[in-house]
Amino acid sequence: IWAECLNYIQASIPVNDFQTWFEPIVPLKLEQRVLTIQVPTYYFYEFIEEQYIKLVGKALREIIGSGAKLEYSVVMARKHTPSASNSYTVNYPAAERHDLRNRAVDKKYSRQDQPQIRNPFIIPGVKKLDIDPQLNPEYSFDNFVEGDCNRLARSASEAVAKNPGKTAFNPLFLYGNSGLGKTHLAQAIGIEVKKQYPEKTVLYVSANKFTTQYTDSVARNSANDFMHFYQMIDVLIIDDIQELAGKEGTQNTFFHIFNHLHQSGKQLILTSDKAPVALKGMKERLLTRFKWGLPADLQSPDFNTRVDILKTKIYKDGISVSDEIVHYIASHITDNVRELEGALISLLAMSTLNRAEITLDIASTVVNRLVSKPQREITVDQIQRKVCDFYGINMDALQSKTRKREIVQARQVAMFFSKNLTNSSLSSIGSQIGQRDHATVLHACKAVKNLQETNTEFKHQLKEIEGLLRQ
Ligand code: ADP
Ligand code: MG
Repeated sequence: IWAECLNYIQASIPVNDFQTWFEPIVPLKLEQRVLTIQVPTYYFYEFIEEQYIKLVGKALREIIGSGAKLEYSVVMARKHTPSASNSYTVNYPAAERHDLRNRAVDKKYSRQDQPQIRNPFIIPGVKKLDIDPQLNPEYSFDNFVEGDCNRLARSASEAVAKNPGKTAFNPLFLYGNSGLGKTHLAQAIGIEVKKQYPEKTVLYVSANKFTTQYTDSVARNSANDFMHFYQMIDVLIIDDIQELAGKEGTQNTFFHIFNHLHQSGKQLILTSDKAPVALKGMKERLLTRFKWGLPADLQSPDFNTRVDILKTKIYKDGISVSDEIVHYIASHITDNVRELEGALISLLAMSTLNRAEITLDIASTVVNRLVSKPQREITVDQIQRKVCDFYGINMDALQSKTRKREIVQARQVAMFFSKNLTNSSLSSIGSQIGQRDHATVLHACKAVKNLQETNTEFKHQLKEIEGLLRQ
């Protein structure tokens, strides 16, 4: 009978889904039109209820007849026994305390053998889940400078790290613009939890990596294993959750993982570049959950915090930079900690390169480079005009087929800069500069490059032209 139901179901859903959600089901008994099926986990049951109950109901009525009923028996996994060397078993918390809503469900979950699950995420023979938490020791609380801009987020993070799963911050939702310390804080929690509770399983993963793992698992027909793996983690950190936007399959799976972890008192830490209310492309039911804990935002650092951050990093790197320079940088680079760090790194690089002390001059060069507005895009056409101006020739000549030396050179220079300063392809440049093909443009670029290496006067010309073009 179940086989017939399966045939019916199989015809209506994609192969992958069928393999994921129906093949693991074991039919147990059929008594008075009540069919009992065995599913591996509670979430399996939930998922079927949510996604497939109509379809299954139809199949049952079709094959068993009207009045058919479905009951579930949820298996609990046995602990891994070393003797079963080839079958990896998955442990998850008992599901007894879940209220299985109103549907008729076998509540005496029978303890039975776990159906064999091939699990690529679990190392065979290892009883406890032993995974690399993917934490960078640099991103500790100690290295995170506190300021008004991040005080709330930081103290919430510390509270979570002390008592994962037991604070009001579950999920802890950290949000703010890029470069303000979301990843750093989220990692700090992981590091601290590992320090205080070495036995807890902590995992940091970017939303993109999570998506890839999920997609791969679907392709390998191991989406269940993927889900089980994540459901065993005590402290799960997912970075840049906004990346899940529009990815429905991943969102659905994450939803189940979220529920499972949350209900079993495990801690979730999510980061995002936007507040939950402002996230787009995310399922409502996920957004609702994101708002459960208190979303905590990170703001741009104020002047004093910027100075503190710079000084901390300078101290750590063991370099000496005067207060004047620190203040100069802090007053010019204002809204992003990553850029503050970037400024320090370039400063250090420049002073090493020139074997010079770090002066205000060097600092201002570095800062200007970092804060200068992005250039307005220059076009191939504008490049041709400026090159013509420079050489005192006219556009028609540049575009013509003439082989006169100075014109050929101007044409090649125009091609060279078009290649280097625009995103145009070689063939597009060629077609705009006198209907040449891409090979001609490529040749021109090489010729210009070679010439400037051997001819200093030409090199200076190029510099001058580049200056004009960048104005
Ligand atoms: P986000 O994830 O928000 O884009 P990151 O956490 O990657 O930002 O932070 C960018 C850089 O700035 C990192 O190197 C981080 O260590 C540093 N940083 C951010 N905030 C602080 C802070 N309050 N104290 C020290 N370093 C910080
Ligand atoms: Mg980040």
